[in-house]
Amino acid sequence: MLLLLLCFAGAARFRRWRREAAAAEATADATAEPQQHRHHHAVIAPALVTELEAIVGAEHVSVEAEELQAHGEPQHSYHRCGRWPGAVVAPATTEEVSQIVRACAARGVAVVPYGGATSIEGQLLTVHGGVSIDFRRMNKVLRLSEADFDVTVQPGIGYLELNEYLKPKGLWFPLDPGPGASIGGMASCRCSGSTAVRYGTMRENVINLTVVMADGSIVKTQPRTKKSAAGYDLTRLMIGAEGTLGVITEATLKIYNIPAHKAAMRCTFTTVQDATKAVQEVMRRGIQIGRAELMDDVMIGILNTANETDYLPHATVLFEITGENPAELEASMEAVTGIVNAVGPTSLRSTTDAKESEHIWRERKEALWHCFAAYPEKTAFITDVIAPVSRLADLISVCKPELDASPLPAPICAHAGDGNFHTVIMIDPGNEAELHEAERLSAFMVARAHEMDGSCTGEHGIGTGKIKYLEREQGESGIRVMRSIKEALDPQGILNPGKILRPGPTLFSDKESSPPSGCL
Ligand SMILES: Cc1cc2nc3c(=O)[nH]c(=O)nc-3n(C[C@H](O)[C@H](O)[C@H](O)COP(=O)(O)OP(=O)(O)OC[C@H]3O[C@@H](n4cnc5c(N)ncnc54)[C@H](O)[C@@H]3O)c2cc1C
Repeated sequence: MLLLLLCFAGAARFRRWRREAAAAEATADATAEPQQHRHHHAVIAPALVTELEAIVGAEHVSVEAEELQAHGEPQHSYHRCGRWPGAVVAPATTEEVSQIVRACAARGVAVVPYGGATSIEGQLLTVHGGVSIDFRRMNKVLRLSEADFDVTVQPGIGYLELNEYLKPKGLWFPLDPGPGASIGGMASCRCSGSTAVRYGTMRENVINLTVVMADGSIVKTQPRTKKSAAGYDLTRLMIGAEGTLGVITEATLKIYNIPAHKAAMRCTFTTVQDATKAVQEVMRRGIQIGRAELMDDVMIGILNTANETDYLPHATVLFEITGENPAELEASMEAVTGIVNAVGPTSLRSTTDAKESEHIWRERKEALWHCFAAYPEKTAFITDVIAPVSRLADLISVCKPELDASPLPAPICAHAGDGNFHTVIMIDPGNEAELHEAERLSAFMVARAHEMDGSCTGEHGIGTGKIKYLEREQGESGIRVMRSIKEALDPQGILNPGKILRPGPTLFSDKESSPPSGCL
């Protein structure tokens, strides 16, 4: 008994010490904060930590340095801002999230929602310290309607876990961003992945959301109907907002039957232009494909090095072809084969074997890990741009020579059926010159995409990394509308500050400067 009491006393003393240390760190940060950002800065007062503990239970609030660092320096993004949150809190219900946001709002403390931490553009950086809301405990399926083909989930569930739940029922949720991504993060980044060519992005696949607003109030964005013409579209307003307009606590998603008959096709071409030409023709003919992914010769070379495979190091297109029945599948496979042969492949292999197909798609999904395996001492500067599908070949044609001429490895992967391509530029994390070269390449790609009526990002979002490109894309009037929305819904600027929009009046007066508070 005495031992138990000593343990409790020790734990309480440790918690008090951590709270004081966190408060001291936050106060020190506040003094160091540049004047123009001061009003956004969050100080984690011990009283706030106590209040958070009362809301969710002390065991679900952390001020441990290791946990703060993990939440302030997410591993998949090369962006860093040199600041961690003051506390990490893991709620279990919408009501708890509402109380957390209310408590933070009362003190003007920043709130950064945290899902699977696979975002790439610095979306999770705690630029102004504050409280990181980790959704790991809100990972339940709340209801399923097989008749309506929809499912309601908490935001912390991963798409992989959701599919484990759906698979025995013959159903699936097809979107597939980074392994580990959560539904809340996916909705907030308006993500997509390899299946968007068939099923669309999060924008098309979320029916409604429950959202905690900046004042703690709870809003359900629309009823559970397939469509609605009732007023402003609050669902779509939240999708892609990166946690800057509200905190998602429930999502109702469209789900689908798992396609009964599938085939995978691996086709290689002499040039990346030929590869894109084949994809465009397949799309133009309206053949039912599930995926159309492209990897350039550099990416295939990296894959070979990392996995000791011996794929032809040529531009490669991976098609997934689907059909309601074997005859339909065969007809589609024949049509795609005809198109590919007309363009002139250097190799073509198709398979209906489920294991082989799964291997093909896993290899593609793990492109980033292949890059790390091939360059173990480097980190990845990942960037994506998108053009109208008909301009993808032009976009890649102007960007690839620039990427190939760079001293840095810069392989291309594309969701070719959407007009979206990525490059994974491998840099030495401590090397300023390499970072600048990667930024130059990224700026080049964005500029060419903009010239072709494209966008600075098809799916990775803005975060801190692409604020300046969003400004160019939207122009002053577009940014003013976005800023009005932000100010109306979050007048104190506590929701994930420093993402999508620059804080304060620096907008347009300092177009080329880095994002706020020392973030890359
Ligand atoms: C290997 C790899 C492959 C990838 N492939 C793709 C791809 O093919 N397509 C694609 O689109 N993306 C891809 N991504 C990027 C990434 O997976 C997506 O951006 C994904 O949507 C992020 O989800 P997450 O749960 O990890 O979000 P997080 O990184 O946790 O958060 C992202 C943003 O969402 C906000 N957020 C999180 N939860 C909530 C919530 N409940 N309420 C409000 N805001 C919230 C956060 O504050 C942050 O701003 C890839 C990443 C990796 C590492």
